[in-house]
Amino acid sequence: MKAIRRFTVRTVLPDSLGALEELATNLRWSWHLPTRELFEFISPETWESSGHDPIALLGEIEPDRLAELAVNGEFVARANALRDDLHRYLGEPRWYQQSCSSDAPKAIGYFSPEFGIAAALPQYSGGLGILAGDHLKSASDLGVPIIGVGLFYRSGYFAQSISPDGWQEEAYPVLDPDGLPLSVLRHPDGTAAQVALALPGGGALYARIWQVAVGRIPLLLLDTDIPENDDAMRSVTDRLYGGGGEHRLLQELLLGIGGVRAIKLLSELTDAEVPELFHTNEGHAGFLGLERISDLIGDGLSFSEALQVVRAGTVFTTHTPVPAGIDRFDSALIEQYFSTDLLPGVDVGDVLALGAENYDGGTPNTFNMAVMGLRLGQRANGVSRLHGEVSRGMFGALWPGFDNVDVPITSVTNGVHAPTWTDPSLVALAEEKLGTSDTTLADWSSPAVGDGDLWRVRNGMRAQLVKDARHRVAKAWGVHNPGVGDPAWVADMLDPEVLTIGFARRVPTYKRLTLMLHDPERLRSILLDPQRPVQIVIAGKSHPADDEGKRLIQRLVEFAQEPDVRKRMVFLPNYDIGMAQLLYPGTDVWLNNPLRPLEACGTSGMKAALNGSLNLSILDGWWAEFYDQENGWAIPSADSAGDAAERDKLEADSLYDLIEHQIAPRFYDRNADGVPVRWVEAIRHTLATLSPELSADRMVREYVERLYLPAAAAARTISADAFAPARALAEWKTKVTAAWPRISVSHVESGGVDAVPQVGDELHVRAHVNIDGLSPDDVAVEVVYGRAREGDQLENPERVELVATKGTGNPVQFAGTVVLSRAGSFGYNVRVVPRHPLLASPAELGLITVAN
Ligand SMILES: *Cc1c(COP(=O)(O)O)cnc(C)c1O
Repeated sequence: MKAIRRFTVRTVLPDSLGALEELATNLRWSWHLPTRELFEFISPETWESSGHDPIALLGEIEPDRLAELAVNGEFVARANALRDDLHRYLGEPRWYQQSCSSDAPKAIGYFSPEFGIAAALPQYSGGLGILAGDHLKSASDLGVPIIGVGLFYRSGYFAQSISPDGWQEEAYPVLDPDGLPLSVLRHPDGTAAQVALALPGGGALYARIWQVAVGRIPLLLLDTDIPENDDAMRSVTDRLYGGGGEHRLLQELLLGIGGVRAIKLLSELTDAEVPELFHTNEGHAGFLGLERISDLIGDGLSFSEALQVVRAGTVFTTHTPVPAGIDRFDSALIEQYFSTDLLPGVDVGDVLALGAENYDGGTPNTFNMAVMGLRLGQRANGVSRLHGEVSRGMFGALWPGFDNVDVPITSVTNGVHAPTWTDPSLVALAEEKLGTSDTTLADWSSPAVGDGDLWRVRNGMRAQLVKDARHRVAKAWGVHNPGVGDPAWVADMLDPEVLTIGFARRVPTYKRLTLMLHDPERLRSILLDPQRPVQIVIAGKSHPADDEGKRLIQRLVEFAQEPDVRKRMVFLPNYDIGMAQLLYPGTDVWLNNPLRPLEACGTSGMKAALNGSLNLSILDGWWAEFYDQENGWAIPSADSAGDAAERDKLEADSLYDLIEHQIAPRFYDRNADGVPVRWVEAIRHTLATLSPELSADRMVREYVERLYLPAAAAARTISADAFAPARALAEWKTKVTAAWPRISVSHVESGGVDAVPQVGDELHVRAHVNIDGLSPDDVAVEVVYGRAREGDQLENPERVELVATKGTGNPVQFAGTVVLSRAGSFGYNVRVVPRHPLLASPAELGLITVAN
């Protein structure tokens, strides 16, 4: 019989075990090893069967066991000590309090459509969500006062199983919030706090607000599954990336607009501070800026004045160089939703203009969330150095006339949260031999850790993965073949001694799940090599609507099922955080073969590297930045190949060659003790040099120093004196934009160098600029100079500002000097751009005039 309704009855813990309740409800347990060990100690079997979920564990534990623990003095003391440690962690000054000035912002809103924090709270689909989870965890560890905002999806993403013929099947198990570490935000009278969004036709969408404690970070998740909504509106938050246009739009309206309202409620109902700046993690969350504009209009500002304030205090991160990854809506749909009471004071035309693709190459009547994100955020970034460059090219049309290098999108390379992603055995090794539990700061080059020690730990991690993989495959087999018992081949599936390559990812086409199958016979011979066998562990989910992706999975599964290959290659269903935590440490080599440059960053390889796995990857995303010849291998990318098929062939051949001729020989080259000395050297090098760079602590510190603090300062400046600077800036932008068509460089002269210019000579440049209607202070006139390349393109140009020498009349003369510091070809030009102290970039207005 199937239950028609279910709920979770929480265990009543004996008084002496009260600490467990607190430890289970703050998700810090998910990255605090001693707390995890405490829960595991209660019942190792239930800890495993619950998928490492303290609340589920406490719910399932036998009362006898609890009674026994309640009088176990040692256990009670351990639990209390951990609770005290949690309290200390929550209250003590950390990096942010110690290193940033006392007027650093007291709160920062961080909005993301998904958060991957623990397997026990499945509110993520892949990289974006895991990154957001890691961002919160590192922010917690560093004391950065973030308030996270997202949605609570009743079914999360989906659970994947694979049919006997290799087809992905999806299930949407319904989550019970009562069984999760969540609490409802309530009014003092006990009623649940709610946000409401006005809908077309006069109705409203309501949502309650779940609070999650992620260490020091409060995370708010909005949930529409409440009786105030009709069935259609209840299902707005049914699943992550579930429906099409309108469903998605409703989710994003709720996330952005509802999210800001939820934060306001939080600060009314608790002692939480109101954020001074907001971080929009990918375009999906962009509507948050509109709610803030609406509030400012309520305070008496015009739309364009309010826009200046919101821009100053918003950081926007773009995560994809794949156009299909960007959310776009029909303008008519946006118009329909904003021609309502949704945002008091905000004119629908102004909303439409923010997302309009009204630039070269744009599509009419389309509302683009990334474009809106860029227009609502004065500071923007991509997620690796290469992705920053690609993004500047991709969005360059928004700043017409500017070279790509001047497009105001910087980059902060992603990182991963080391305490979450480092295997406990490696942490134990660092503690034992290097005296620290922080594996990212440990001195792995020290002889205190022997090659044999490292290799032993690596072998253990591989064996643990093999065991887990067999267990998962046997379990999946059991579902399709009930009552038959495990087939014999499962016991020989994978070998704990064999070189193990891991490959797990979502399955969009650019990630090329099946590149390794390009030449199946060659792959087979690599796997089955009698001296130097190789095994591959694969996992990944395809979007439910992506049949192409499912066919790729099917091809892999079919190949892996062939009886000779079966022991060396396996596809593990239902890739999630729990699997990933064993998969990355258990692989010797982490493979990534996207089509360059479509992988914005890629974080799975980072997580592998933190565990001493070596990367084998196309030079894309983070690997393009960090590959140094010693920490793994680069698959050369055949960017200039004639067509996709040729490119796949060239890159697949390189992949096979690297495995056969470099990777396998090095792995199997052992000393008398069975240790592959050269391999271990590369592990050591990876741990010593990459771990600190790849950690999310480095990433969050960079966000704070390079983006959050400047944004907070800008927001304060522009809001001072009852927003006088915002009003002035809006007016100035209108004036400059109107005058710009009349700005021109009428004449440029230079002197000071002889017929044969030499290094050290000074080039005097004078430019006559018509600034009709503007003052010389409104513009920056600059010489742009550098090595002149083909087509007179300036390479890595530098700039020197010219100063107005005669301030009156028109044209105005600007003059300055460039020192010729390098031999070789030299070229220069003169450009005019708007200048104002509140601009973060001279490109901000997209206005530029260049001498002809
Ligand atoms: C890290 C991670 C991802 C993202 O990996 P990429 O290399 O960025 O594609 C996806 N799913 C899970 C479960 C992860 O842990």
